[in-house]
Amino acid sequence: MTSLESLALSRGTVDRVTHRRNDKQWLDAAWADPRTRVLVVSDGRALVRFDDEHVGLIFVSPAEAPAGIRFLLGQDADGVVYFGVSADLPAALSPSPAPSPVGTVRAASLREVGVLLGDRDAGLFTHAVALANWHDTHTHCPLDGTPTIPDPGGHSTRCPADGTEHFPRTDPAVIMLVTDPDDRCLLARNAAWPGRRVSILAGFVEPGESAEQAVIREVAEETQIKVTNVRYVGSQPWPMPRSLMLGFRAEAPAGQAIVVDRDEIAEAHWFSREELLAAIKTREIALPPPVSIARHIIESWFGGPLPSTWTETQGPVSPGR
Ligand SMILES: [Zn+2]
Repeated sequence: MTSLESLALSRGTVDRVTHRRNDKQWLDAAWADPRTRVLVVSDGRALVRFDDEHVGLIFVSPAEAPAGIRFLLGQDADGVVYFGVSADLPAALSPSPAPSPVGTVRAASLREVGVLLGDRDAGLFTHAVALANWHDTHTHCPLDGTPTIPDPGGHSTRCPADGTEHFPRTDPAVIMLVTDPDDRCLLARNAAWPGRRVSILAGFVEPGESAEQAVIREVAEETQIKVTNVRYVGSQPWPMPRSLMLGFRAEAPAGQAIVVDRDEIAEAHWFSREELLAAIKTREIALPPPVSIARHIIESWFGGPLPSTWTETQGPVSPGR
């Protein structure tokens, strides 16, 4: 099996120019350049233009950008610099959908447009949502409660009282497709999900634990299945609010019965490829949307694209834990 390709939120093309983040002079010059593009993010959403042939982010110039915490996203091959700003969406274009000769502009989330955007925009949006979520929720020093001050590039903050530096949080989560000796795939319905939705198992990596150990622990906790031969297959950021999804395959030796943890999992079953396709066609189950790494891992096992998705706005919100 090959590694996963074309994960919707792992496609960024813009150089993050990390060496510029504390270069105040360079940052000031970039902000003064009218070619610079600013992506405004509010509550995980940005303005997006939809037309017949293209879905793309709406950027504003620095002069048009609203006041808010600013962070450097990077610089493209043409030298254009991109910033993000966490603030209310620009008033001129928000909140109502604005029909125009070049399509419709409205606020949209990564979950909704992650697969529709081009590589550059998908990467910029993912990066900006992750940083905006961090800034929005990490405003004070965890040691003494003093309001922190963002560094010039917006990728860290500093406490003015004790000088401690603070960096963005990313929570690693594992998501794994388990197969039995007949190469059937284990799919489960989370107790929190309505209807017919199923997916592969997932959970957060705990402190002091490797990702592979988390795979083994989570599968056992949720289904009492013991797995071996845990292999990494790829990763995707999922900044809703701050996860990094680490994809794995694992094998369940024969002779084990599924016993679900009812608090987390409503039901779990083995599916052969034929059974999976039949269950989708009869609408007995529905799979996660193409923006998710879960969908890619399932299709990688299946050997090609599968029909059926959840509604794009309804999940998965976070890994089950
Ligand atoms: Zn402090």
